[in-house]
Order: sequence, then C-alpha cells, then structure tokens
Amino acid sequence: MNSLSFAEKLWLKCRLLVEGCHLDPEMIFPSNIHHKKIHLYAHSQEKISRVIPEDILIGIENDNPLICRIRYCSQSNLLIKKEDNHYLLYDLTEQKKYPITFVSLPQFASCQIKGQPLHSICSYLGLDLIGVIPSNYCFYFNHNQQCRFCEILPNYKNQVEYPKAIKDSHLICEALHIALQNEPKLQHIAITTGNIKSYDYTFEYFIKIGQELKNFLSPYVVKHVLATLMPPDNFSLIDQLSQTYFNKVYFPVEVYEEAHFKVVCPGKASYGYNKILQGLDYALQTFGLGHVYTNFVYGIQSLDSDLNPASYCPKKENEKALQAVEGMLARQIIPAFTLYHYSGYNKIGAIPLSVEDVYEFFKQWGELVFASGIVPLDEDAVLFSPLTLSNTLFNDAFLMAKTRSRCPLSINS
Ligand code: SF4
Repeated sequence: MNSLSFAEKLWLKCRLLVEGCHLDPEMIFPSNIHHKKIHLYAHSQEKISRVIPEDILIGIENDNPLICRIRYCSQSNLLIKKEDNHYLLYDLTEQKKYPITFVSLPQFASCQIKGQPLHSICSYLGLDLIGVIPSNYCFYFNHNQQCRFCEILPNYKNQVEYPKAIKDSHLICEALHIALQNEPKLQHIAITTGNIKSYDYTFEYFIKIGQELKNFLSPYVVKHVLATLMPPDNFSLIDQLSQTYFNKVYFPVEVYEEAHFKVVCPGKASYGYNKILQGLDYALQTFGLGHVYTNFVYGIQSLDSDLNPASYCPKKENEKALQAVEGMLARQIIPAFTLYHYSGYNKIGAIPLSVEDVYEFFKQWGELVFASGIVPLDEDAVLFSPLTLSNTLFNDAFLMAKTRSRCPLSINS
C-alpha cells in the first residue's frame, strides 16, 4: 500500500472531487459510519440506491488524513474497495492503492426532535461541524433570477428530508442543543440559507436564531458559528447579528468580474455587486479581521456570456480566480472557493474541470491566504477545522502552505 505525503493527499482529494469515485458493489461498509445525505446539493448526476458513506478520510489515522466528500461517479477511475480487511482507494489508471477510513456516525444519529429524526433538521459535516439550512427556498427562483449554477430549490423539492421549505428558529436551536449535548466532538456550527421574503427579513431571521442560540447553547464551548446569507438592505442589521451567537459571516459574491456576475447571478445583481462588497466591508468593522468571508464558484469564472460549458478554459479560470483572491485579500475579506458541481438541475450543465489546474489554483490560494496574515497564526484552518470541509479544498491548501512555511522540506509538492 502506498503511503502519502500531504501534497499527494491533496492531489487525490482534487481528483476525488473532480472525477468522483465509485464503490465496489460487493463491499460491505462498517455498520457505524456516517452515511451520505443531501445537505444542500446532491453533488452527483447519478442516483445510487445503496447507502454509501458521506466522506472518506484519505491517509491513515494519526498522519493528518484529509477529509473528502464522495461524489459518486460510476465511470470514475477511482474505486473504493476492501482488501485484506483494509479499506482503500484504488487508482485504476495507475494501479495504485491508498489507505482510507470512514467518519463514524455522530452520537446524535438516532436522536429525535418532535417526532422527526434530528438529522432532518441538522447535518453532521466532517468531524466537528454541524450545519443547518433554515430555508431551502430562495425568492430568486420565483422570478427566474436564481444564480445559474444553483440547484438548491430543485434538489430540495426532489430529495431533502425535512418536509417544509423553512424551519422554525426555535426548532433549529433545540435541534442544535440536542446535537451538542450528545456529540462532544462538535465545535462549530454553520447556518446557510437561501433568501426568504426579503434581504432584511432573512437577516432578521438569522438575528432571531443567533439570539436564541445564546440562551440554548450557553453551556457549550462552540468555537466558530457562521452565518451564510446575502447582506441586508439595512446594514445596521449586520451590527445586530454580530451581537448574537454568530461570530463569523459569509456573503457570497460567487463571480468576481462584475459583467460576468450580472450574467451568472441576476438576482444578486439586482441587489448590487458593489452593495455586496460594501456589506462585506461593513461586516469587517463589526465581526473583525479573519471573521468575514465571501465565496466564489471555481469553474464558472471563465465561461462565456452564454454560460456554455465548452467555454470553460482552465488557464483563464485560474487567472480570473486568482484575481478574485487578490482583490478580496486586498479588502481583508477571506475569499473561499467552492468547486462547481452539477447534479442535473441547473441551467449550465456539466463542466469537466481540469484536475491539474484545480490543484494548482488551490495551492496558490493557500499560499496567498497564508501570506496575507488574515487567518490567526494559531489556526490550522481558514474556516472551522481541518477535518470539516470535505467538499472543497481551501482548508487543506491553507494547511499545506502553513506547514511548508514552517518546514519547507516536510511537504513533497
Ligand atoms: S442566492 Fe443564489 S446560490 Fe443562494 S440559494 Fe439563492 S439562487 Fe441559490
């Protein structure tokens, strides 16, 4: 079995997220693993009837494994199988095998709330993060103004467990309380929503959740509590949110070039590109340095104005994405990146990303963000902890840059 350097693990994670993987149909998984469920998106065009793990850990325990989401693809050259009592990732192209393990079920897995499974309200993400989607609804869909990559509403209608589009704030707080009470590993909370009635209404809804969480969760030590939503019309609501249980905020811009932003995100464009940036700058004054994030979608920055998937150009993508990183770091905003994915519901369609360029981009991302000094030196992750964000690469790339700066020979890149 091949042992792995950090750079090799990052490379494998890039491949797993871009190419997906499939699973030996004969394989029996351990009974206590955390199973795949849909938190926001399906991340795969293929439906698979058997229960499969949500994430894998690449590498062996105690040797900095990387956490990675399973994006199922039956045609992938990466296969998960069991051999001699070990689980491994098999690279069919290079005929190499790598050790993997799985994430265990959280201890709240069988808990219920008001007769419903707790996991219909909140999702276990990674090893120490819990996430809630207060609303899978987004009013942009009503007027065909949804971000063109977004699949949140069609996915919710088809697949998500909770029966209503909007969850009651009290129910969310009670659910988080039960989860924290039962699973001592939890240290971070992420709350992400679509737009409810108006920008201010959605923000006020988060303020209500944040105030209630202060009462419900006072006995627990929760490190990062993130709100992801659009900024409000009335910026004083940002001050109010910062006084609640939330200590981090994330206003996604998604596309850096303003003209392209207007094409990809018509709803957000009606709010205003510059107004989102002003909201981020404002939040920096109230939440503080290292606590304000935006998001960009890697893979769509280079598309043409028809959003034709064939117009994706890996070199141009990296150039534009790096411009976004530099532009945001100059404002002292952390530019997170998610990887474009397609589950069959959005208007863009599938884009076969270049693994080499994804790797190169995130490597540079890690170096730029580490060098900016925005992330406190004692943090090993840009957001939450290294074993939380299985579906993107920025925490791993940051940790690689940080490790390299301390010990340049320790990482084979
Ligand atoms: S703001 Fe855009 S990305 Fe977010 S839920 Fe609405 S349409 Fe989707």
